[in-house]
Amino acid sequence: MAYKTATYNVAWHDDSREFYHRVVASVTKQFPGVQAHALYQPVHGPALAFHRSYSMSHPRAKTGDLVKVTVSFHHDPTAFVPTVTGFSLVEWKPAPAVTPAAPAPPPVPPVEWQITIYDKISGGPFAGLRVKLRLPSGTESWFSTDSKGVIYLKEPDVSAGRVDIVDAMDDSATPTISYKGYARSGLATGGKHTLSIPNERKAIDLVISTAGVNRRSSYGKKTPPYWKMDQDWDYDTVVLHHSGNGGENDPAEIESQHMGSKGYDDVGYHFMINLSGKIFEGRHLAFKGSHVEKANTGKIGVLMMGDFEHQIWDVDDDPTIVQIASLGKLVGALKAILPTLAKMGGHRDYKPSTECPGGEMYKLIPGLRSGTGLGGP
Ligand SMILES: [Zn+2]
Repeated sequence: MAYKTATYNVAWHDDSREFYHRVVASVTKQFPGVQAHALYQPVHGPALAFHRSYSMSHPRAKTGDLVKVTVSFHHDPTAFVPTVTGFSLVEWKPAPAVTPAAPAPPPVPPVEWQITIYDKISGGPFAGLRVKLRLPSGTESWFSTDSKGVIYLKEPDVSAGRVDIVDAMDDSATPTISYKGYARSGLATGGKHTLSIPNERKAIDLVISTAGVNRRSSYGKKTPPYWKMDQDWDYDTVVLHHSGNGGENDPAEIESQHMGSKGYDDVGYHFMINLSGKIFEGRHLAFKGSHVEKANTGKIGVLMMGDFEHQIWDVDDDPTIVQIASLGKLVGALKAILPTLAKMGGHRDYKPSTECPGGEMYKLIPGLRSGTGLGGP
């Protein structure tokens, strides 16, 4: 069978920088059922020519035959229409758009923990708190909250699993304040967790500055063994004392007596106010006082310096107006940080065998209660 050979040219404009073309020309209508000759010519690399011409031949094609052209390539199939010379173009069929590959699944987000610790008193962040965490690996490590009160953990430092708070402390200054009671177990994998812990040091500093308290460091000569002392907080009662005949008008002397002959770990009272209205810090308020025998928990000890029990055989004092005013200021500052503070009493209310805080001081307590919004024992 003799086949005619005709040549037809397919040309197109191509300004792409990368291409892979497949050109198929088939003779239609006049040659039904005839397998078209196809030229498959992949071209790679930068397009240097604006026109690419492919010659294709078919044994039975002749000039005037209608040609169907299919061109497929990687780029925008609507960018050009080929021109066919020698034949008529009956159909221009851009290649169907290539179905894009299924998008890669989104990367699995890394496991992250954000533990935010708020100051229970101010509501602001508790910065610089050291927190010991048990990580999913089982190891325990110390972390510190940042300026926003946040501890941030992320893979690969931690893997999925459970994180427990096993300890917390504020060792940013002396004494170290332990918050072990705020340990929490079973923080879920990842996510955000919040906790409120009172920043006791900050709260005490506020009392000191608000009430104009002279710090322990201004007179103290000894450092208490804080490591073996009991902490206390959430105080509900202010207990008033007086010095009595024993003197106790010099805070340094009180420190010496309490930590010496009396064998206390520290000054027994939390605060001391002299007749001039000067307030001294005694035992750090984060620690339980030693001023009411066997019943110190929850009680803030305040010594009103002087002997307020009138006896004919000794020199007695009366509480001074400035001393009482300082007490009022101190109690106001304490109430601001301790919502639990509700009562005020004299030492004798808790230990009937003592005359402390002296009859003259004791008489003033009801008025002080109404002035400070506190109730009785
Ligand atoms: Zn007392």
